[in-house]
Amino acid sequence: MSEYKNPQSIKKYAVDNLGDWLSYGIDPEESVVFVQSHIPQHLELFIILSTLTPLGWLYRCPTFKEQISQLKDKDINTYSFLGYPILQASDIIMYDADFVPVGEDQLPHLELCREIIRRFHFIYGKDIFKEPKALLTKIPRLMGLDGRKMSKSYDNYIALCEDSKTLQEKVLSMFTDPARKRRNDPGHPDICIVFSYYSVFKADKKEAVRDWCIKAKKGCRECKSELAKILEDFIAPHREKKRGFLKRKNYMSDVLFEGDKKAGKVSEKALSKVRNILGI
Ligand code: SF4
Repeated sequence: MSEYKNPQSIKKYAVDNLGDWLSYGIDPEESVVFVQSHIPQHLELFIILSTLTPLGWLYRCPTFKEQISQLKDKDINTYSFLGYPILQASDIIMYDADFVPVGEDQLPHLELCREIIRRFHFIYGKDIFKEPKALLTKIPRLMGLDGRKMSKSYDNYIALCEDSKTLQEKVLSMFTDPARKRRNDPGHPDICIVFSYYSVFKADKKEAVRDWCIKAKKGCRECKSELAKILEDFIAPHREKKRGFLKRKNYMSDVLFEGDKKAGKVSEKALSKVRNILGI
């Protein structure tokens, strides 16, 4: 939505994302993987739901307000950006989802989806959609390198299969406790992004990190270098697998082709129900 001036960049994301997901264990035999823009039913449902969604609901979305204020170099004051949560709602509703795996920051969007469903049912007098619930993991939010929400738009993310050199550079650039200006200054790990990554990726080392931070036994650079190694060990096997998948171009195309076919059938069925209710 924010890349409308550079649309060519979007196409490559589909294969790249598929490589990431396969390398982390998504099995296309069990999960339907498809390219949303190949299924035009999503857009039709998006338009139908757009007609009944009050603008006020969209303007109050915290992510819209936040990104407008953060992405000052991009003109994203557009309908596609404002209406993006409706497209997300279409993506969910289309497949009758019981649960949606989301990060904590996406909870308002899911709530909006539930409100849109209720409004649809109220206006047309028929309850046909399920109200989906959030599926949060034990770590519902992982902050970006600079302490803001992690986002491609903010360029403050670590990619699932980040290359080794970039990973190292990114970890070394992470924001830390500003009180630790000098090596001997004691730190406050609970407000440090680096520490939050230790909590997720090396929980058994958390207390040791807390100790060396509070007592200034190690400097931030050393602390980050150790984290970079931990993340490298975590990511390296996935990166290798992804490389393997990306070489299998026919297999990758087949996965998306089959996924598109399956998703197309399900979405057409769902949309037919909607068209019947609307009498169109
Ligand atoms: S020592 Fe580690 S946890 Fe403490 S402020 Fe520095 S980077 Fe953060």
